[in-house]
Amino acid sequence: MAYDPSNIFAKILRGEIPAYRVYEDERTLAFMDVMPQSDGHTLVVPKSPAENIFDLDPAMAAAVIQSGQKLARAVKHAFNADGVMLVQYNGPAAGQTVFHFHLHVVPRYADQPLRSHGRSMADARLLEEHAQRIRAALQAG
Ligand code: AMP
Repeated sequence: MAYDPSNIFAKILRGEIPAYRVYEDERTLAFMDVMPQSDGHTLVVPKSPAENIFDLDPAMAAAVIQSGQKLARAVKHAFNADGVMLVQYNGPAAGQTVFHFHLHVVPRYADQPLRSHGRSMADARLLEEHAQRIRAALQAG
């Protein structure tokens, strides 16, 4: 399947639709997942057009992992998480629903099961509050 530039993350990257942005550098952007599987669930995307792991430039893969590591540290600190999961899906059969490569950064809390994948929209004020906590943790280093 060819990369479709009308996907929702491409629109976020172009600034055509809003997102709860938490981190940006030359090659990547990170923002809150609007249907979080746990509090602090964040997504990291490359700024280059890639549908999934199969067409992602290796240098961009490295950039996404570097940002993912920053975000993992920040969400762990911001939410006092017990652990952090880094996950990504390739192709509909694997559970991918948005066809611009993305890395899920999902804080985990002991004894708390994950909420369903991409199922229920979180409250806008809560997402903004969570985004602020992550930005503050990133700034604190
Ligand atoms: P995947 O199934 O791995 O392709 O994940 C897509 C993720 O994007 C899901 O976890 C959705 O909750 C999330 N999502 C969908 N639309 C948006 C959006 N506009 N802003 C932020 N996250 C989104």
